[in-house]
Amino acid sequence: MFSQPLTLEIKLPSWIEEFSQAYTDTDDISKRMAFVISASRQNVVEKTGGPFAAAIFEIESGKLVSLGVNLVTDQGLSVLHAEILAISIAQRKLENYDLGGSNMPQHELVTSTEPCAMCFGAIPWSGVKRFITAAHDRDARSIGFDEGPKLQNWENALIERDIKVITNINRDEAYSVLKLYRDTSGHIYNSREDG
Ligand SMILES: [Zn+2]
Repeated sequence: MFSQPLTLEIKLPSWIEEFSQAYTDTDDISKRMAFVISASRQNVVEKTGGPFAAAIFEIESGKLVSLGVNLVTDQGLSVLHAEILAISIAQRKLENYDLGGSNMPQHELVTSTEPCAMCFGAIPWSGVKRFITAAHDRDARSIGFDEGPKLQNWENALIERDIKVITNINRDEAYSVLKLYRDTSGHIYNSREDG
């Protein structure tokens, strides 16, 4: 049907590369999270998407492998949540769909807000060994975002798959970015209004 195969391209915001260079390796998970939250704030300031960011780090060294931000509105694709971007960029950089490969350092996903149903589902397939979040899903819902049909005890579902889970790291800071987005008339793109 098509003379050429379809190429699916995702353009990352131009500010991301320089922003990532400001990160310094640290073994302090609160500092890793602070960096991720600052990226979520930058995404709001730059108006390149929703108030969410996520990153893949090497657990032991704290090296930043990838930084993703929410690009749903910027790229017009509903699956472009920060976690999906961070996982995909890391896998492309490392040329491996499994970030838990035996021949590589262990990786973690650090995200500014608890995962929605889709991103929760993507975590076990990514190969990360640890998952760290800041804002609660009720914080996201309080400004109008929908987290989708997620398991009630999603943390346990990950723990059962040998993925460590740490919640509530720098929650207030992350929540302040959600409120900033709401207060600066950010588009709550996935809220469903009645009718
Ligand atoms: Zn998501």
